[in-house]
Amino acid sequence: MDHKLLSTILALLLSLSQAHHLVELGNEDAYGEKQKIENAMKTFNTETCIRFVPRFSQSDYISIENRDGCYSSLGRTGGTQVVSLATYGCVYHGIIQHELNHALGFYHEHTRSDRDQYVRINWQYIPSNTIYNFQKQDTNNLYTPYDYTSVMHYGR
Ligand SMILES: [Zn+2]
Repeated sequence: MDHKLLSTILALLLSLSQAHHLVELGNEDAYGEKQKIENAMKTFNTETCIRFVPRFSQSDYISIENRDGCYSSLGRTGGTQVVSLATYGCVYHGIIQHELNHALGFYHEHTRSDRDQYVRINWQYIPSNTIYNFQKQDTNNLYTPYDYTSVMHYGR
């Protein structure tokens, strides 16, 4: 691996680990969601350089809320950044990881720049209001193989 690429990766990892590690979970926990969310966060702490820690007074942080659906902004927005994990349908290990990855700045695997070598998008079946979930991105894939099993890949 050449030095420039390595330093790019390190810079990316550093900015990720510094940018998005402050988290606030709401109090309502009727179905044990908080434990499931914390378990999903722990996998980042043990398997990546990302460290999610509880928020205390920081102004930029992720607020995980039970809203209408599973969604997140892409990357850091500043201020209170809502990651929605609706009680019904979103509080599953892979979905929690998926939305947190979006908050960290990761696109869907099936939108990476080389995706056309691996998947065919059947545009005719995609509702117009969700097309953005399939639009190809100008990603630098850092020589990583395309991963059909990624939590960031939709089902085939
Ligand atoms: Zn997504």
